[in-house]
Amino acid sequence: GADISARNIDALSASFPLCMQNLHRSLRRDAHLKHYGRLQYTLFLKGIGLNLEECLVFWRSSFSKFTDDVFNKEYRYNVRHAYGDVGGDSNRRGNGCSPFSCQKILTEHPPGPGEAHGCPYRHFSIDNLTNLLQQVGVKDQEVLRGVKEDKEKQKFHLACNRVFEYAHKQEIKKVRDEGTWGAAQLETIVHPNEYFKRSYLLKN
Ligand code: SF4
Repeated sequence: GADISARNIDALSASFPLCMQNLHRSLRRDAHLKHYGRLQYTLFLKGIGLNLEECLVFWRSSFSKFTDDVFNKEYRYNVRHAYGDVGGDSNRRGNGCSPFSCQKILTEHPPGPGEAHGCPYRHFSIDNLTNLLQQVGVKDQEVLRGVKEDKEKQKFHLACNRVFEYAHKQEIKKVRDEGTWGAAQLETIVHPNEYFKRSYLLKN
């Protein structure tokens, strides 16, 4: 089975969509993320099956510049809240908030300066987007050109699916040839957690 634990997030991040890879890279670079980035990423991690205890371990170890005291005062509550462990009305407690869909990420709370949340296909300049894609291993000129065209037409999720198909080309061919995955399992991805789930299933 999958080892969805704090210590394994670096390895698992290879299967994350670009929005979450960007949050992960920013977190590793700065040992910090601003509020909305923490929320977007925490809910995604919850959605991949990271439990509350492991999620707290993950954030605590990632925010390496803070003391335990500061972490407990400033950050612990919000993680617990996202998991429904505290706060909210009693109906929702136990589940907490749902992981954000692409629709929500694309249309709500656009990132400001110094913020890493949002969707890079929408919120990055084409140069920054191309750079980020190259850094995560997407170097094929045809794919990069396709992404640029998708972005110009504001078809952001198509750009994301284009990159998914490129990054899983061999695996998709295999499940198609073997008939183990039908059309339904290869429909357009519209949720970051579906991106992860599909990537993870294809690669493992
Ligand atoms: Fe993330 Fe969705 Fe944007 Fe892909 S299209 S990067 S999954 S928000």
